[in-house]
Amino acid sequence: TLPKIAWIGLGIMGSPMSENLIKAGYDVTGFTLEQDKLDRLAAAGGTAAKSIAEAVKDADVVVTMVPASPQVEAIAYGPDGILENAKSGALIVDMSSITPQTSVDLAKNAKEKGIRVIDAPVSGGEAGAIEAVLSIMVGGEQADFDEAKPLLEALGKTIVLCGPHGSGQTVKAANQLIVAVNIQACAEAVVFLEKSGVDLTAALDVLNGGLAGSTVLTRKKDNFLNRDFKPGFRIDLHHKDMGIVTDAARNVGASLPVGAVVAQLVASLRAQGDGGLDHSALLRSVERLSGE
Ligand code: NAD
Repeated sequence: TLPKIAWIGLGIMGSPMSENLIKAGYDVTGFTLEQDKLDRLAAAGGTAAKSIAEAVKDADVVVTMVPASPQVEAIAYGPDGILENAKSGALIVDMSSITPQTSVDLAKNAKEKGIRVIDAPVSGGEAGAIEAVLSIMVGGEQADFDEAKPLLEALGKTIVLCGPHGSGQTVKAANQLIVAVNIQACAEAVVFLEKSGVDLTAALDVLNGGLAGSTVLTRKKDNFLNRDFKPGFRIDLHHKDMGIVTDAARNVGASLPVGAVVAQLVASLRAQGDGGLDHSALLRSVERLSGE
């Protein structure tokens, strides 16, 4: 029989992902801060819990998908939290993007309660979550990865164990570096093309067929063309991720000169009140720098 699932964090990603588990036949009990998201889970065939404690008490697997390290720590360590209330032997699958060190510490603290943890952050965005084609980068023990794999296969397409606890987060940090720099490069190209009077749709189509083509250019094309910056992936979250990768790189002595510049551009968008927009809004920053 399938493991019983608790799902904490039903946001842009957590809602469609948990619904994919329900569609795959899993029994999912969820908790999140917004009532409308709990109603949505119940409508999809899951069970809405009134607290984390209630959601996790009978669960075999506890999936977490919340914004950042402070939220993961709150839901894990609080009196109402996972470590106090989950069964011994339960497996936590943390899919949030957080600092690698938080994942390492969580695995260590959970072990004292007989609870196992893997870090399993994802890439692929809201569309990847809805279509269950996420890339899932895992850190932890081989046996726990093997146990979680069937469940992860209901959520994603490329599922890889990258190394010990925290390794999934390190790979995700690299992912966020590549995505931010790629969006910035595409945004600069878009502004340059428009100012040059070239037909943008034609230009992006042909660019996508060559070495400049990318998932970013494909997935964000309409955002760029229509100046539609509804998230998606919020600038606030990418700001958090640029902090994670900058910090982790400093710790190991890796130099990220271009990443550091793009991190500043993300921070500047946020400072200008655009933190709630999709990260494709880096285009706005290029427009401002170009006098528009
Ligand atoms: P979101 O803000 O839409 O959702 C976060 C959810 O966490 C909310 O529903 C909130 O209620 C819940 N939450 C926060 N604190 C909680 C608490 N104490 N108890 C219970 N629930 C709590 O964020 P999102 O876009 O779904 O992102 C979630 C994570 O996934 C982040 O770490 C993000 O970096 C990562 N991620 C996002 C995307 C994307 O495209 N949106 C893609 C890949 C990875």
